[in-house]
Amino acid sequence: MRILVVEDEKKVASFIKRGLEEEGFTVDAAFDGEEGLYMAETNSYDLILMDIMLPKMDGLAVVQKLRERKIMSPVLCLTAKDTVDDIVSGLNSGSDDYLTKPFAFAELLARVRALLRRGSQDRGAELTFADLRLDPVAHKVWRNNKELDLTAKEYALLEYFMRNPHQILTRTMIAEHVWDYTFDSFTNIIDVYVNYLRKKVDRDFEKKLIHTVRGVGYVLKEE
Ligand code: CA
Repeated sequence: MRILVVEDEKKVASFIKRGLEEEGFTVDAAFDGEEGLYMAETNSYDLILMDIMLPKMDGLAVVQKLRERKIMSPVLCLTAKDTVDDIVSGLNSGSDDYLTKPFAFAELLARVRALLRRGSQDRGAELTFADLRLDPVAHKVWRNNKELDLTAKEYALLEYFMRNPHQILTRTMIAEHVWDYTFDSFTNIIDVYVNYLRKKVDRDFEKKLIHTVRGVGYVLKEE
C-alpha cells in the first residue's frame, strides 16, 4: 500500500511518514500543493493525506483538480478547522474524510485503515436499481444510460443506498457507513449530501428514487 502525504510542516510530515512506515506502508511526502498535485498525477496511490493550508495551492484545490482528472484515490484531509462549513466544503471538494489537527497518530491510523478497507470493498459486480446502474470498479453511475457526474462522497452515498434498497437508512447509519463515524451534532451534513445527490439522481426524472422518511432518514425505492 502506497500513501502520499502532502503537508508543508516538515515535522508533521516526517512524524506521519515515519509512523506509517513503521506500520508497513510505503510513504512519499510532498511539501506544497503543486508538488502534491504533480506527485499524485504521476504516481498511483492507495490513499492521499492532504493538509488543507498549503503554500502554492491549497489542499482543497488540489483535491478538486485530482477529481476533475478522474484520479479517485481516497483523500483524508488534515485540517485545523472543524466548523460545519469547512467540513462540508472539504468533503464537497471530493475528499473522503477529514481529521482535525492536532490528532493522535492512533486516530490517523484508524482513519487510514478504514478508508483503505472501504476502497477494497468497493470492487465487485455492478449494482442496478430501477434505471440506475453503478459500476463499483470504475466508480461510475448511470441513470437511464446517462452517466451521472458525482463527487466521491455522493458516489459513496449512492452506493450505500443501492446496496440497501427498500431499507430505511437513518442519518446515523449513513454517517457510520459512508463516513465511518458519527458526526454527533453535525448530522445536518447528511441532509446536505442527500440533497446534492438528489439533484443529480432525481431532479431531471419524473420517477423519484430517493425518498425522505420524515423524522427517521431516507430510503431508496420506486414509489
Ligand atoms: Ca499547513
